Amino acid sequence: MSASTCTACGAPPSGRYVLSMHGEVTCARHPADGRCALCGRPRQREEQGWSRFTATTARCPTCAAQSVDTVEQARSHIPAVREDMAALGIRLDQRVRVTLVDPDVINTGGRGVCLGRTLQRVEEGGAVTDVVGIEIARGLTSTHFGATVAHEIGHAWLAQRGARALARQLEEGVCELFSGAWLKRRGTEFARAMRQAALDNPDAVYGAGYRAVRDSVAAHGIAAVLDSVCGRGRLP
Ligand SMILES: [Zn+2]
Ligand SMILES: [Zn+2]
Ligand SMILES: [Zn+2]
Repeated sequence: MSASTCTACGAPPSGRYVLSMHGEVTCARHPADGRCALCGRPRQREEQGWSRFTATTARCPTCAAQSVDTVEQARSHIPAVREDMAALGIRLDQRVRVTLVDPDVINTGGRGVCLGRTLQRVEEGGAVTDVVGIEIARGLTSTHFGATVAHEIGHAWLAQRGARALARQLEEGVCELFSGAWLKRRGTEFARAMRQAALDNPDAVYGAGYRAVRDSVAAHGIAAVLDSVCGRGRLP
């Protein structure tokens, strides 16, 4: 990916510019018609090569070129993500099936774009009994796909470890931590940009949760944090 020339005018950017998570630059002076749902690149009106992501969002050509669109493509990525998570100490006792779904199925309004969800069996009274599957939005970049699988494996792992009825901010914060750890292992510039975006996320559940859990890990270590979350339902 060339970081030196503008995606809209092809010249080195003059003045302020927008940097996508791929490191592509676009002069801020070009009128934009929305942004890529995955990397933040501004879209120029009539610009070719963009594709639909959800009903209200689009994907840029760079993200589309790396996309996980088919079951075969997903299957080729999943074992490496499971191995990476195992290397981080996160192993599922029972394997959980990963399926691809239309992004619109898991995006029914609300802020931000939802990239995946964990399907859990809930017994009467609201207690989660087990995790029956993980759904990932079709059409993510392979890096988004891996980070989302890592996040959802986090939910499954918490459920299998008996961490029930956690505060949402704590549960999503732990899962964002796992996702961030996977992105760190991945080691690419794009993965680094995605991890930074998750850390900077202004969302009160996902971003604030991630920062709280990360600060706790820095103070107490990962083992103490996970023991406390699974045993007492809170940070140490
Ligand atoms: Zn330009
Ligand atoms: Zn993009
Ligand atoms: Zn989650």
